[in-house]
Amino acid sequence: MFRQKISQLRHFGPVIVILLISWIASNGFNCLRKWFPWDLHNPLSVINFTIACFWLLLVLYNYFQCIFLGPGYVPANWRPNFIEHEKYLQYCEICQSFKVPRAHHCRTCQRCVLKFDHHCPWINTCLGYKNHACFCWFLLSSILGCIHALLIICPCVYRVLFIPYMPWKNEPRIDFTTMSLMSSILSIGLAIGVIIALGLLLLIQLKNIAYNRTTVENRIIRKANDRHREQFIYPYDLGFQENLRQVFNWKDCFRLVGDGLTWPVRSDCDQYTLSREQLEQEVEHEQQAVRYKAIRSYDGSFFPLIYGLRTCIHIPYSIEPRLRINQRDYLLVTRWQRYWLYGKFLMANQTMTGCRGWFPRCCVIQHLNTKKKLS
Ligand SMILES: [Zn+2]
Ligand SMILES: [Zn+2]
Repeated sequence: MFRQKISQLRHFGPVIVILLISWIASNGFNCLRKWFPWDLHNPLSVINFTIACFWLLLVLYNYFQCIFLGPGYVPANWRPNFIEHEKYLQYCEICQSFKVPRAHHCRTCQRCVLKFDHHCPWINTCLGYKNHACFCWFLLSSILGCIHALLIICPCVYRVLFIPYMPWKNEPRIDFTTMSLMSSILSIGLAIGVIIALGLLLLIQLKNIAYNRTTVENRIIRKANDRHREQFIYPYDLGFQENLRQVFNWKDCFRLVGDGLTWPVRSDCDQYTLSREQLEQEVEHEQQAVRYKAIRSYDGSFFPLIYGLRTCIHIPYSIEPRLRINQRDYLLVTRWQRYWLYGKFLMANQTMTGCRGWFPRCCVIQHLNTKKKLS
C-alpha cells in the first residue's frame, strides 16, 4: 500500500510541483538568511522565519495529503440499498458497480471516483470527495507562500543589483554569486507564475464550492438548463454557508462530512434528482450518436503522422484517451472535430466494453446501413 502511494509520485506532475516548491523555497530561505538573518534577539526576524516555515510545511502537508488521501473511490460492487433505486443510477462496466450519486468514472485512474471533479496531473490523481478541502488549502497556502517569498526575494535582488553596499549604514552585506542571483531572479518569475495560475484555479474551485458543484456537475447543469429551457433545480445547493461547510467543515475540526455515498439535498429534491437527469442526458446523447465503420487501423498514438500533417496539427486538446481501432470495427461517434472523432466501440466484445476515445476522422466512414447486423 505504502509503495503504491509512493509510486504515485513517479509522474511528471508531482516531480515538477516538488521541484517548483523546492526551487522557490530554497531561494526564499537563501535570501531570508542573507537579508534578514535569523536572530533570536530580534522578534521580527523570528516571526518572519516562523511564518516562512509555516507556509512551507502547510504547502507540503496539503500537497501530500491530496495525493496520499486520494479522492475516495466507489466501493467494489456497490449497489443502492433498495433494488428499485438501481434504475436511477448509471452502471460502470469497467468497475462493475453502480455509480454513486455525484461519482464519475476516471479514465486515467480506471476507477469510479466519489464526487468526481477532475483528474489533476499535478497531483497525479483525481480531485474528489476526500481531497477537495486539502487541495484548496494547498492552493491557498502556495499562493500565500509565494507572496511571502516574493516579499523576501525581490528586495534582496533589488539591493544586490541597484544599491551598493555601505558598511557605515549597519545593514547586512548581501553577497550573491552570479548563479544564485540568476536562480533568485528565476524564482521571482516562477513565484509570479504560480500565484497567477493557482489564483485562477482557486477562484474556480471557490466558486464551485460556493454552489456545492463540481466541474462535471457544472456541465450537467448547463445541459439540463438547455434541455428543459428553464433553470434546473440543482439538489445539492444548500445555501452558501452550508455549501462551504460541506467541504471545509470548520464546525467539526475540518473532518470529512458524510461518507461520500449519500448527500444532503434540498427539500424539493431527492437523492437521485441529478442522477436521473444524467441518465436522461446519456440516452439523448446516444440517440444523437452516429455509426461509423473503420476503414483503416489506428494505433492510438497522439501524433499519427501517417494520417497527414493536418491530423497531427489539429489534435484534440484533451487528455482524454485515444481509441485504438482496427479495420472493420464499428464505432458510435458522439463528438466531432474536423480531423478527429470521439466515440466508442459498437457491439464490442467484453474486453472492449466501455472503451471510448479520440481517433482520426480519416480512419472511418459513416455507416449508413444501420439495419445491417454488426459483428
Ligand atoms: Zn468506474
Ligand atoms: Zn483520475
